[in-house]
Parts: sequence; structure tokens; C-alpha cells
Amino acid sequence: MHERLIYLDHAATTPVDARVVAAMTPYYTTHFGNPSSIHAAGRMALEAVDAARETVAAILGASRKEIIFTGGGTESDNLAIKGVAQAQRTAGRGAHIITSAIEHHAVLHAVESLQAQGFAATVLPVDRQGLVRPEDLRAAIRPDTVLATIMYANNEIGSIQPLAELGAICREAGVLLHSDAVQAAGALPLNVKALNVDFLTLAAHKFYGPKGVGVLYARHGTPLWPQINGGGQERRRRAGTENVAGIVGQAMALRLADQRRASDAEHCRTLRDRLIGQVLERVPFTALNGSASERLPNNANISFEFIEGESLLLLLDQQGICASSGSACTSGALEASHVLSALGVDHQQAIGAVRFSVGKDTRPEDIDFVTDALPAMVERLRSVSPAYRRAVGR
Ligand SMILES: *Cc1c(COP(=O)(O)O)cnc(C)c1O
Repeated sequence: MHERLIYLDHAATTPVDARVVAAMTPYYTTHFGNPSSIHAAGRMALEAVDAARETVAAILGASRKEIIFTGGGTESDNLAIKGVAQAQRTAGRGAHIITSAIEHHAVLHAVESLQAQGFAATVLPVDRQGLVRPEDLRAAIRPDTVLATIMYANNEIGSIQPLAELGAICREAGVLLHSDAVQAAGALPLNVKALNVDFLTLAAHKFYGPKGVGVLYARHGTPLWPQINGGGQERRRRAGTENVAGIVGQAMALRLADQRRASDAEHCRTLRDRLIGQVLERVPFTALNGSASERLPNNANISFEFIEGESLLLLLDQQGICASSGSACTSGALEASHVLSALGVDHQQAIGAVRFSVGKDTRPEDIDFVTDALPAMVERLRSVSPAYRRAVGR
């Protein structure tokens, strides 16, 4: 192990802020009650959950009743998509769903599971920047469309959708809109009214909170079938004893992220641009994937031609540098990321993509360490590539 990891994978998860840990600890020790219990210990836990709900609601511009605490981003996505679709179909409103080609698998696979249950789905394409065209959404809406689910910001390439505009189109057509905003929290405004969304997903561990806890905002009066049945918790929309400490930590993390939003974004943008600038300048045959302008402040997704992103990740890891690749090795063959493929990035470029995502504690010297190390690593991998040797005439 290296003494200090250079962690550039904040889109995968973030460290829990010390103040968040401090806020959570009492709910494991002295205030361990079950919020459903009527005695003093239970009431203390319930008060903490209520206060957390108030905090989250205020930041989203929502009311407390509209906040559902869940077991994370994946669960919130599943609850919104399956919960709305099933309630709508049962009410006879239709069975057609709209999504985009670059959604997280929590959304895409939830939609696929509905397709297996007889729902129809339209998957909207994106442009080369990774953006949904509003006119494509408008054209996809049918009389039997019951839900659209389009992410706020993408986890691989950081592209930011024109969500308020997409939401206005859905409103006009009477179609409910869910948005996976997991990557947006801490970077972008989250007011659900300004965004014109009916459902919004958050996950605490992406904004310096604990893993295994999330939020689903569900606008008052919208149909939603619970996906986890049991007790009456969360106004009968999500059964199971509340993760009290996690809920408290999530609210504290969201409040801190909200307070720091402008300064964190500025800090991340500066480091991200330093990284992109240095890599593109010092390593030949590289390109930035996604949008230059409509992009999360912490995301750099770079294709290194002639190599596999996975191989570069292993060399980076040997130097204590944590990053991520878009490609996944399934059954022995490298598969390009569905996101980069949807952008029209060619297969070789997509296979050579690496995502670096900076965070609030990343330092300029971390970036310089990485960009000092990269040229030799890339050259080492490329030196065994016949295509590269041809390209440079060696
Ligand atoms: C991480 C992530 C998720 C999944 O959240 P979990 O809390 O890990 O289940 C969903 N959507 C996006 C965009 C994400 O980045």
C-alpha cells in the first residue's frame, strides 16, 4: 500500500466527511432507538429522522412529506421507475416509458425489467456531447407514456442535461419525470421546482456521506407503488426500520455539500482543467470525451488511443493512483462503455477511456503527480501496439 492514495475516483464514491461521522456516531451508541417505538429512546431516533427530513426537504425546495429515505441511489431509481410504472399501468394510464441511452445501469436495468413485464420503452439517443435533444423527447411522448426517466448529470462523462427544459416538455404533455441526480448533488442546484421534476434520486456516498442510504423525492400526489413491503415506515412507501445514523449522516452531508457548492465546484473545475490541459498537452493521441461546457466540475474522461483503459488503470494503481475505466471486461472480451458508444465514440477510443474524477480534498500537486507519471505509462503500453508503431512510423 502507498502512504497516501491519490484518489481520483469521486464519481464512484467519496470519503465520509469527519463532521458527518461525528453527527452519525451517537445514533449507533446512545441514541440507538427504533423510530417506530413509542418510548423515549424511539422518540429520540424519530426526532433525528424528522430533522434530517426537514433539512433534505429544504435543500430540494420540497416538503417533508415528499422525501423518502431509501437504501441508496440504486434503490431510489428502482422505486421511482418501477413504483410509478406499476401504479400508472394499474390505473389504466398506459405502459410506455422513456429513458436515455446514457443512464446508469440502476435506471437502464430497472427499465429492462419493466420491459420483461410487458412495458414498452423508448431509449432516447444523445448527441456527441452526451446531451438529450429536447425535440427528441417531445417526439417520443405518446398518449400511453406514463414516465420519463432522464439523468441530471452523467457518471462517466459528466454531461449535464437541460433538465428544466426537458421537465417543461414532460409537464406540458402530462408525463411524470424522474431524474437520477446522484452525480449532481454538491455540484448543481437541486431545487425540484426549478428543475420541473416529479421524482429525484440522490445517494449520500457520492457527496461525502455514508454508503447505503439515499433519497427519493416524490412530488405530492404522484402515484408510487412501494417496492419493499412490510411495516408502515416512510409513509408506507418504503418499509423497513430506518437507517437512523445513515439518514442523519446523509442530511449533514447534503447540508455541507450545499453550503460548499460554489467553492467546491470552483476548486474541482480548476483541478479538472489542469488535469485535462496537462494530459492533452503531454500525451499525444488523447481526446476529451463529452461536453467541454455542459460538464460536471469534477469529471475528466479521456481516451488514450492505442491502449486499453483497463491496462492503464493497473499501472496507475501501482503508483497509488485511483481512477476508473468506462470499459468492462465481460467474458474475456473488452466491451466499450454504453455511454461512450451512445456518444458515437469509436470502439478503439472507447476502450482506451479513463475517467478521473477529482474531489474537494484533491490538491494541485496530486494532479501534477499524475500527469508527470502518465506519459511514461502510456508510452510503455503503446510500445507493444503495432497500430501505434505504424501511426508514429516506427
Ligand atoms: C453511484 C450512482 C448510482 C447508484 O447509487 P448507489 O448508492 O451506489 O446505489 C446511480 N446513479 C448514478 C448516476 C450514480 O453515479
